[in-house]
Amino acid sequence: MKPKKSSRPNKTGMARPQPVDALLYPRFSGIATFMRLPYVPRAEELDIAIIGIPYDGGATYRPGPRFGPRHVRDQSSIIRPWNPALHLNPFEKWRIGDFGDLSINPLSIEVTFRRITRQLDEVLKSGARTACVGGDHSILLPILRSVHKRFGPVGLIQFDAHNDTWGGYFGSPHSHGTPVRRAVEEGLLVTKDVLQIGLRGQVYSKDDFDFGRKHGFTVVTSEELHRAGVAWVGPHLKKLSRRPVYVTLDIDVVDPAFAPGTGTPQVGGLSSAQIIDLVRSLRGMNIVGCDLVEVSPPYDTGEITSLLAANLLYELICLF
Ligand code: MN
Ligand code: MN
Repeated sequence: MKPKKSSRPNKTGMARPQPVDALLYPRFSGIATFMRLPYVPRAEELDIAIIGIPYDGGATYRPGPRFGPRHVRDQSSIIRPWNPALHLNPFEKWRIGDFGDLSINPLSIEVTFRRITRQLDEVLKSGARTACVGGDHSILLPILRSVHKRFGPVGLIQFDAHNDTWGGYFGSPHSHGTPVRRAVEEGLLVTKDVLQIGLRGQVYSKDDFDFGRKHGFTVVTSEELHRAGVAWVGPHLKKLSRRPVYVTLDIDVVDPAFAPGTGTPQVGGLSSAQIIDLVRSLRGMNIVGCDLVEVSPPYDTGEITSLLAANLLYELICLF
């Protein structure tokens, strides 16, 4: 199955890879790379590398996101290249390929973090930007360590039901509930440029929001979005415009009715339509990288979570 190459080479002379044409090869055929793009494990040939990180050793409740990258890739085969809402085809604009999965160690979070950072350092050094698919949310920290080396401290737009600023978990400084706190402590973020969208649900105590408050995070809760509409985030995004921001999307920001396949489901979340609207509203922002995490296929039903995740990853790629 040969991918169709764009006839228009870019300035480096390399053609832009295109998704396989479904009118030539049916969607269910071939190897399931993201959108059936070519597998390109050489970052220097890409402007945007789609990268799987199949690690879920940071999960505190339901396991399973280690299977996320495969299922998201599988469900992505139905996505078509043209985005009518944003009026663009990202594959005409950028050289985009599926970089494959990073090497991880399923038995050690520390070793995994070091490996993730080392491999992403190489990708970012080549000038490519990254769209990672997890994996649980713990992988955000080693990603941000790499992003920091390349771009310095950046803002963070976090779509999530949870703030992920826990102090620790069972004596470990690392879990999927701690990456944002650790990133702040390590100086990886411009804390006044941290925007958390979709937080909701019960927490352990009223103090759970102290860390973010102390560091000047902006929080837009799911309740605010339900009452005021997704346009409510507009003014907050405007404040971040032109600043370099990293975007992380925890699929549990979406209601379990639309995305049941996730590690720590929280009711009262966003609909599929709302999260797509929100992601598209980031258009024009200076995005240095993005990820989509916490898809847990064993808890999914009819692949609806993986399908939504694949669509959201495509929408994120359209924002670069
Ligand atoms: Mn979450
Ligand atoms: Mn999270």
